[in-house]
Amino acid sequence: MCGIIGYIGQKKANGILIEGLKRLEYRGYDSAGIAILDQGEIFPLKCVGKVHELAKKVQSHFQHSGTIGIGHTRWATHGNVSEKNAHPHLSNGNNFAIAHNGIIENYLPIKAFLIEKNYKFYSDTDTEILANLIDYHYQKEKYLSFAEIIRKSLLHVEGTYGIVVLSKIFKDEIVAARKSSPLLIGLGNGENIIASDAAAVARYTKRVIYLNDGEIASVCSDNFSVITLGEGSVDMVYHELDWEIGDEDLGDFPTHMLKEIFEQPSSIENAMRGRFTEDASSSKFGGLSLTPQEFRSVERLLFCACGTAYHACLEGKYLIEKYARIPVDVEYASEFRYRNAPLQRNTLVFVVSQSGETIDTLAALQEAKRKGYPVMGITNAVGSTIARATDSGIYQHAGLEIGVASTKAFTSQLTILSMLALLFARVRDMDDFSGRQYVYALKTLPKTIKEVLKLSEQISAIAEKYYGQGRFLFLGRQTMYPIALEGALKLKEISYVHAEAFPTAEMKHGPIALISEESVCIFLATQKEMLDKTMSNIQEVKARGAKVIVITSNTQIAWEVFCNEVIKIPETHPGVNPIVSTIPLQLFAYYVGLLRGCDIDRPRNLAKSVTVE
Ligand code: GLU
Repeated sequence: MCGIIGYIGQKKANGILIEGLKRLEYRGYDSAGIAILDQGEIFPLKCVGKVHELAKKVQSHFQHSGTIGIGHTRWATHGNVSEKNAHPHLSNGNNFAIAHNGIIENYLPIKAFLIEKNYKFYSDTDTEILANLIDYHYQKEKYLSFAEIIRKSLLHVEGTYGIVVLSKIFKDEIVAARKSSPLLIGLGNGENIIASDAAAVARYTKRVIYLNDGEIASVCSDNFSVITLGEGSVDMVYHELDWEIGDEDLGDFPTHMLKEIFEQPSSIENAMRGRFTEDASSSKFGGLSLTPQEFRSVERLLFCACGTAYHACLEGKYLIEKYARIPVDVEYASEFRYRNAPLQRNTLVFVVSQSGETIDTLAALQEAKRKGYPVMGITNAVGSTIARATDSGIYQHAGLEIGVASTKAFTSQLTILSMLALLFARVRDMDDFSGRQYVYALKTLPKTIKEVLKLSEQISAIAEKYYGQGRFLFLGRQTMYPIALEGALKLKEISYVHAEAFPTAEMKHGPIALISEESVCIFLATQKEMLDKTMSNIQEVKARGAKVIVITSNTQIAWEVFCNEVIKIPETHPGVNPIVSTIPLQLFAYYVGLLRGCDIDRPRNLAKSVTVE
């Protein structure tokens, strides 16, 4: 959500800031702005809308050659979407400019205090109080260093922030600080870049340092130093980014989402690389610091996540309970964090977040740790806050995911969770032969996914027939239920059409009242043992006028006779079947969104990583 960039070096900051903001666009935003320090003065430039509008403004009338500046993409929380509310915000007298991600919860009393000290406010944001609070502390104690002024100011602040601050008093440094909102410093040669997301620095350097909560960094062109807000010590770890240059480019694809759907054979391959035992009968994860004995002693698992990752966890529950016979609870992180859940002894907690920055998931992690439970992470972002806060974990290695609606990150999470089910099963009571069959199914998964991707044209033609319908219901039983949930979420996210998912048999207990000619029911009928029941359910909705699309791997039943559309996918092992079944739903959502004229990669109101509560 929202993005921050700061540059200090030898090059003109304008271009680098705009380029960085473009790389952050995928996170979702509504307005953008930059501020440059040029010949001793700060010059801001802002606009409502997209970064390319800002770039046009820079081209036409913002030829400042300063080599230090900050930029921001805003996702409004306080104050409407307008130029005056866009960041960076300047302090009275223009000594300081600030870009901020997050929410200052006690901004009203601070604002009242500053108004009393004669500060004027020109925006409705919570952020603007920070600019003036910093100036207030500077005026009060002019001998302090820039970082120390920021420290003093932040001591009064409650809420969440990632900030970068530019000053015409301290001309050779940018100060950055964070609390619950990601920030990293990309270390270059004679230049440094601060950003809220590695996507903005990967072009310039692979060497980064992630700031921790409560750290305040003073960044110059050829060095940097870090102090802490409170008593804590600085804990600096250098990371090498593992992204390829070009990951963020579209190549021949029209959208990032379609590109990422088609990248799934390789992202799934990457999730599995080096993670099978030598005898190919189980999986292993170098990042999970548990011995087989410790794995055995786990009595319960708890998964916490939000959105798509929550659906992946729900799938994990079905698979782990089925194969490893360990009870699994799955909770929305946002619920878990506040509900003081009673946890059983020997519970192992997993938090799952693509970005590794999801604020609710981070809070759930902290809550579980506070209660003394070991917490493992599954995340795609190396060095992210969640990756660093967990006791150990598993990286997805899915590569940069830019499409706001998650696709390859979801199937990569499913793959890891399926491998986890196998691992737990093998240290308990799955035999060697079954283990080998499972591993074989996983290893051949990329090939199977490639086969399913060939259905893209057929699915596009189906979408063409039904995209105008008003209601879509996704139905699946057992391991197909989380996939149905994800199918409905995908459709909602990128086509804004009403879609819901239910365990198939639940239809009769209420949702069937929704069925009319306007409805399209999408059935996931890929489990052999469920076919008879599912066929009856199909007849029930058909009799009430719904259109039926069935996704199945059964070739014996004459589906065409009683379904409007049949999507046939290869038959696979039940442990990987959910992953294979996901692909047609992603493609369906994609084409419906496209046909409805939606902005596929940047769906309205959504952000890629949700860093506010
Ligand atoms: N709360 C700030 C605002 O509304 C920052 C929002 C953001 O994180 O982009 O301006």
